[in-house]
Amino acid sequence: MKVVIIGGGPGGYTAAVRSAQNGFETTLIEKANLGGTCLNWGCIPSKIFRRSADFADDLKKSARLGFALEHLPTISMDVLQARKENILSSQRKGIASLLAHHNVTVLSGDAVIGKENSVVVTVEDGSVVTVPYDKLIVATGSTPVNIPAFPFDSENVLSSNDVLGLQDVPESAIIVGGGVVGCEFAFILSALGTKVTVVEALDRVLSLPGIEKASSKVIEISMKKHGIRLLTKKLVRSVTPKDGTCVVDVASTDTEQDQVTTLEAQKVIVVVGRAPATKELGIEEVGVELSRGFIPVSETMQTANPDIYAIGDVAWAPGKAMLAHVASTEAGIAVEAIAGGNRAMSYRAVPSGIFTAPEVGNVGMTEEEAKQQGIAATSAKVLFRTLGKVQVLGELDGHAIVTVEEGSGNILGVQLVGAHATDLIAEAGILVEKKMTLHDVCDTIHAHPTVSEIMLEVCLKAAGTPLHG
Ligand code: FAD
Repeated sequence: MKVVIIGGGPGGYTAAVRSAQNGFETTLIEKANLGGTCLNWGCIPSKIFRRSADFADDLKKSARLGFALEHLPTISMDVLQARKENILSSQRKGIASLLAHHNVTVLSGDAVIGKENSVVVTVEDGSVVTVPYDKLIVATGSTPVNIPAFPFDSENVLSSNDVLGLQDVPESAIIVGGGVVGCEFAFILSALGTKVTVVEALDRVLSLPGIEKASSKVIEISMKKHGIRLLTKKLVRSVTPKDGTCVVDVASTDTEQDQVTTLEAQKVIVVVGRAPATKELGIEEVGVELSRGFIPVSETMQTANPDIYAIGDVAWAPGKAMLAHVASTEAGIAVEAIAGGNRAMSYRAVPSGIFTAPEVGNVGMTEEEAKQQGIAATSAKVLFRTLGKVQVLGELDGHAIVTVEEGSGNILGVQLVGAHATDLIAEAGILVEKKMTLHDVCDTIHAHPTVSEIMLEVCLKAAGTPLHG
């Protein structure tokens, strides 16, 4: 069986490894760098920035820990960028050797789906190669959405890719979009010394499925503490670069107050979403109709063409989020289906991490979402500050919320906002995936003093036997 994969991101390279492990003759085609958005312009570089931002935040609190610094040092972006490049290049080499170890053929080039089960690749040296397939997996991912109203120039008006290439810390920045990436960048840049304004069209930041209003509130309050200015219910009307700065006209989304406010900042960072990479891919010519540019897929990641599968950011299915671990999980499902299996992809228990300060970890549904689905549900909330370890860390903000099915006590969802929330959510992921109950957690000993005790505390409270919370 010949399996061809287009795209070498977390979806594509995982699919290639799994395909080779099944004994299939596997070819992976990548037009840029192995690792895709995640490794080169997304998850990893943004967390390398976050690591430096965390250190900057800690330096600001140093006096409390007994180190009275006379001057707060400023960051060297050269060092940060060099560290980023080192990590990225070693991770890319790691993926290349993983693929080589599994005898995956890697072609560097731009792929277009051709006729009669073939892919036409324009290789780096300009030559064109036609690669036949029995099964094709499309894992072309996504790119920053390009809205004509924003004159992107990589100088003053920046996409998320441009931010991760910054050579200097901007004096001021307006971030358009208070979603996950916008909020993460707001905290990072503010920690590094930028005066940040976030403009969000909706009435709160992180207005996403599964994120409680109370959790958005914690992040908004923290933005204020960090000196980040937040404008909600405001739409950016125009951005005009002028003499090294940007003039930004902002209007209220409330029609009764159609006043335009003019803001100014050195940089404007536009993070209003990502578009699927399906342009000029040729997929519509082989019987696959797109939905808003995305490739609709079945539960086994199969498209309308039975020989073509799609995974990751480019694929669309109800209830899915654009996340690296979703892409790599879908890769396994697609390869299993090609091998004759029929394991279905489920988005019920996908954990997600938002790397703000404090962090957010989330899995499953909120009480409101459960009720909308006709499930009798209740929830309990405990503050992070009730834990001894949180007091030791001095990172008091945040809460844990658990949503539980009434009667069975099954855990339907968990939301953590607080220190180490993105790591702690793993325990909750197992609970939701395996349909475990409050009592399963209450009967499990959690080590003291650790932040992981928050799961025990919130479940004890939901079970009607609260201890500290
Ligand atoms: P991609 O990673 O986008 O890879 C697709 C690959 O296909 C690319 O390398 C591209 O060059 C290649 N390609 C496209 N078209 C062709 C073609 N025609 N021929 C050949 N090659 C082609 N997710 C998380 O889970 N956690 C995070 O913390 C996180 N942080 C993020 C931060 C930022 C700033 C951004 C932008 C994203 C973040 N994401 C995060 C999302 C995550 O990066 C994506 O969900 C993930 O990369 C999707 O993987 P993928 O394999 O579907 O596609």
